[in-house]
Amino acid sequence: MVNNKPTFETCCAFIRAFSSCMHDYLYVYDLTGDAYFIAEPALSRFRLPDCLFHNVVSTLATFVYPEDNDMLAADLQRLLSGEQSEHNLEYRWIGLDGSPIWINCKGRLLMSSDGHQLMIGCINEIGNLGKADNISGLLGESSLREHINQLLPATHDAMFLRIGIDDFKIINERHGTEYGNFVLREVAGCIVSCLSPSQSAYRIVSDEFMVADMSGADYDRMNRLYHDIRSAVDGVVAKEKYKAIYTISGGLLSFRDLDESLPDTVDEIMKLSEFALTEAKNRGRNQMYFFRPDDYDLFLRTRYVRSCLRQALADNFKGFELYYQPIVLPNDGQLFAAETLLRFQSPSGEPIFPMEFIPILEESGLIIPVGKWIIRNALAMCRKFREQYPGFMVSINLSYIQLLKSPMYEDITEALKDAGLPPSCLIVELTESGHLEDSIAVQNVWRKLREIGVSIALDDFGTGYSNLINIGNLKPNFVKIDRSFTLKALSNDYEHELLIHIIRMVHSIGLNLVVEGIETDDELRRITALNPDYIQGYYYSKPCPEKEFTEKYLR
Ligand code: C2E
Ligand code: MG
Ligand code: MG
Repeated sequence: MVNNKPTFETCCAFIRAFSSCMHDYLYVYDLTGDAYFIAEPALSRFRLPDCLFHNVVSTLATFVYPEDNDMLAADLQRLLSGEQSEHNLEYRWIGLDGSPIWINCKGRLLMSSDGHQLMIGCINEIGNLGKADNISGLLGESSLREHINQLLPATHDAMFLRIGIDDFKIINERHGTEYGNFVLREVAGCIVSCLSPSQSAYRIVSDEFMVADMSGADYDRMNRLYHDIRSAVDGVVAKEKYKAIYTISGGLLSFRDLDESLPDTVDEIMKLSEFALTEAKNRGRNQMYFFRPDDYDLFLRTRYVRSCLRQALADNFKGFELYYQPIVLPNDGQLFAAETLLRFQSPSGEPIFPMEFIPILEESGLIIPVGKWIIRNALAMCRKFREQYPGFMVSINLSYIQLLKSPMYEDITEALKDAGLPPSCLIVELTESGHLEDSIAVQNVWRKLREIGVSIALDDFGTGYSNLINIGNLKPNFVKIDRSFTLKALSNDYEHELLIHIIRMVHSIGLNLVVEGIETDDELRRITALNPDYIQGYYYSKPCPEKEFTEKYLR
């Protein structure tokens, strides 16, 4: 240095010397020589060409967030024109992955010993760094991520217990955010008080904390830790005289029993621990769930099937198809009706079974648009058949969700009207009827459908879902005996006798009975002897596409 004034080069040397001691990024900009130098760690955060670059204004434009370029250019112009001597601007740079990162850039002008105008300063990130959390007094998510990063690739010794406060939102709503902050602090305190020296705790998102243990702890020790924390939290709730009552759930991620490859990124570990905590909450809260790869695979599979279903819907129901299975008279096998059964193929052509995709359609609510599509297509098919079989009926399966969450009565009457068909051509089958008695609104839809002449079938009779109570509540026209019950009635005397009495009882109150699942000659003969009204089963036909069904039954 000459006259205590630095040069661009001495500034660069100074920045290099300090860069490993700072989270922020020092820089020097030589306005006269059109050169810029920034601390090297910035290269692993921002989309910079190098630590040292020239053609500064045009190079800046490659990593400054495009919307902020004009603002920066105007500020630099004011510096160059002498209008201002200090730079202090909050704007965005582009991160390595292309995302915007908020920074505060401060700098001041000075003259170098060789007559160049320099700006020296510092870039700080001002976005949510989450290094530490002043509310809970714990370190934050980015510190946890740094901690995990140092340990990667993960070892079998690593254990992560993710803890969430159950229903934290309600605490905030009922008692205000100040009390919510108090609860966060208290729970953090409970966690810290239970830790052993090899464990460390962090607050991650809102009401979630993570305990990391790298000492090769076993499941029992982590289970004990969770229960100790839970008791401590119970103590706080009691000490506060039950002002707010809350519990905690825990998701434990352990690599000890994983035979397959261990997660190798922080994101992967965070994702798996999040799944573990969500599972604990889904299983009823106030408990710990121990991560199991099988559960996670099922979760991923469900997510995959759900996305295939969504895509199919967006693609005008591509992949969905309706199959029909005949319901026939027992003695001569004459066609009476057809049950509509939904089939689905993923975009890659993989067939997915109804047992798997129907619950996903229900849980996602997608059953509502798909259900509408089913009714319209099934009625179109029915219309064709009624030209030759005037009394032909088509049967569709309805989910409880459809009755609860969509205007089923209106949808059905409108579809009938559009198809030009009377309500008497339609049978609606209800499964999972265990919930039905709970909802007056649903029972009203049921009553209105019955009143206009739509037939009601109680499906799955003889399984856990469907029983005598439903015959009283639903007042169905048909009772469908499920294949599982049919099989029992064919193989043991007790259920056989029970079926005889069910058929008599159903007949004595004027209802019709359909026996499902008849596959063989022998089964048909023995069931027919019991005098059912209708038979459905592979013996007559497996469910088949409309074309095949038409070829078989329409002349
Ligand atoms: P479900 O309504 O009781 O339908 C009867 C099931 O028994 C059908 O299975 C049918 O293929 C099968 N089945 C019929 N006869 C025989 C037989 O002789 N032997 C054997 N082994 N099976 C027979 P699928 O098509 O796999 O459907 C399973 C369930 O999925 C249905 O049971 C129903 O609860 C549901 N499901 C199917 N399509 C729809 C739909 O469009 N909407 C709704 N909500 N549920 C549907
Ligand atoms: Mg059915
Ligand atoms: Mg059935």
